Amino acid sequence: MSPDPVHAIAVVGAGPAGLFAARALATAGSRVLLLNRDVKPGGLAEYGIFLDKYKMKGGIRRQFQKILANPLITYLGHVTVGERGAISVADLRAQGFDALVFAIGAQGTKYLGVEGERLPGVYHAKDLVYHYNRLPPFSERAYPIGRRVAIVGVGNVMVDIANYCVHFCECDEVVAVARRGPFEKAYDDREFEDIEDAFDRRRYRAELERIRPRLAAVGQNPDELLRAMEAREEPQPQTHARLSFRFLASPRRVVAEAGRVVALEVEETRLERKGDRISAVSTGELSRIPCDTVVFAVGDRVDEEAGLPYRDGLYLTAPGADQDPAAAYQVWDPAAGAPMEGVYVVGWARRASDGVVGRARLDAETGIKHVLARVAARPRRPRAEADALVARVAEALRARGARPVTYAEVVAIEAEERARAAAAGVEELKFASDREMLDLVDAAAVKPPA
Ligand SMILES: Cc1cc2nc3c(=O)[nH]c(=O)nc-3n(C[C@H](O)[C@H](O)[C@H](O)COP(=O)(O)OP(=O)(O)OC[C@H]3O[C@@H](n4cnc5c(N)ncnc54)[C@H](O)[C@@H]3O)c2cc1C
Repeated sequence: MSPDPVHAIAVVGAGPAGLFAARALATAGSRVLLLNRDVKPGGLAEYGIFLDKYKMKGGIRRQFQKILANPLITYLGHVTVGERGAISVADLRAQGFDALVFAIGAQGTKYLGVEGERLPGVYHAKDLVYHYNRLPPFSERAYPIGRRVAIVGVGNVMVDIANYCVHFCECDEVVAVARRGPFEKAYDDREFEDIEDAFDRRRYRAELERIRPRLAAVGQNPDELLRAMEAREEPQPQTHARLSFRFLASPRRVVAEAGRVVALEVEETRLERKGDRISAVSTGELSRIPCDTVVFAVGDRVDEEAGLPYRDGLYLTAPGADQDPAAAYQVWDPAAGAPMEGVYVVGWARRASDGVVGRARLDAETGIKHVLARVAARPRRPRAEADALVARVAEALRARGARPVTYAEVVAIEAEERARAAAAGVEELKFASDREMLDLVDAAAVKPPA
């Protein structure tokens, strides 16, 4: 008996959103081609979650392995979709899929427009995170961390960057810089436990005293925070490096002398209550935080060059999501004044830097419900025809000079990484370049896909 007829859907991006989208589609009986920029799947779950969270990463990887073993899903890594990639959005649309789902995350950089933001020694968190998690090509570039690091931002990514600086680098001091106050911090207390040993309580008390009048002006009492701090057990320091906070400070300029970063210039702010929201208002008073490295951990934006309609850090989606929730997932073509037929976004590609893996998964699964509802109106095709379409796209990519990496090849790469980690007596080891991974699979001549 021949298999049931299917819809053929391409998912672009194999981070959590793309993988859970592919699973939801395959569960509904669709044939899925999954294209991914990186050789290996996982996105920020593989190249973002902190270095030593082995257990968490292991659990997520096992879920991804199950998804990728599904015969309805064909994975091709090392394939970038976009104007500068192996295939453009327009070309992919022309291949004849029933729908395209973009789950390409937030790969653009959010520049704050601060002078000196592109100096050597100034990094954007995502690049540094990709570097220390060994994602090529970031893994192949140097991101030297100095003795005194200023991190702009007070979210969970700041915590990860601080963790890296104080526990994995030769760093003496980290200062987390926030435009607003301690009550507006965005990191989770559970995450903060990972850097509590470096937390300088004396400086924190002094900082809260310094800003006490400005907190009181909006009805905030720092004693609550001090009591909470005293109630927490003080862990044994695992590092000599110290972590402190600088609140009510808005970055204005990275100051360099002879091309080297020497300080972050900030403008003092005060707080203002607007309804439920507390906002920071500049006071005009400038001061400097001495440092030799600055990291901006202020969230990301989507990749402007992917070839999807874009405005202000986001891809455009159809209006009217209040009445029709599907609209929020449907890409909007402003030139045509209409939805881009059959093109959808999910996960961080839809809402940049929004939440953890679970949230990306939920967003993907919700998006796929809408995709399936729309696609249901289209005729299904025989499974063999959908398989042939997938094989044709793989062939077209090779003909354009791309070197797509199959899931069988990913399995071989990961097996070699595990073997090398075991031989070196370390928990985890990753190839630092695409070249090494491609050489390995080329030499092993892992079978190409059918
Ligand atoms: C520093 C950091 C630490 C984090 N730590 C945790 C944590 O501890 N726990 C947790 O639950 N969550 C954590 N998160 C959040 C979690 O990683 C995200 O919620 C999730 O990865 C978002 O999934 P996504 O698939 O939308 O995007 P991503 O994970 O970014 O995946 C995007 C995928 O698209 C591919 N891609 C990009 N552009 C293209 C293109 N043009 N063509 C083809 N493919 C493309 C990429 O290769 C990538 O595989 C962390 C995030 C960061 C930044």
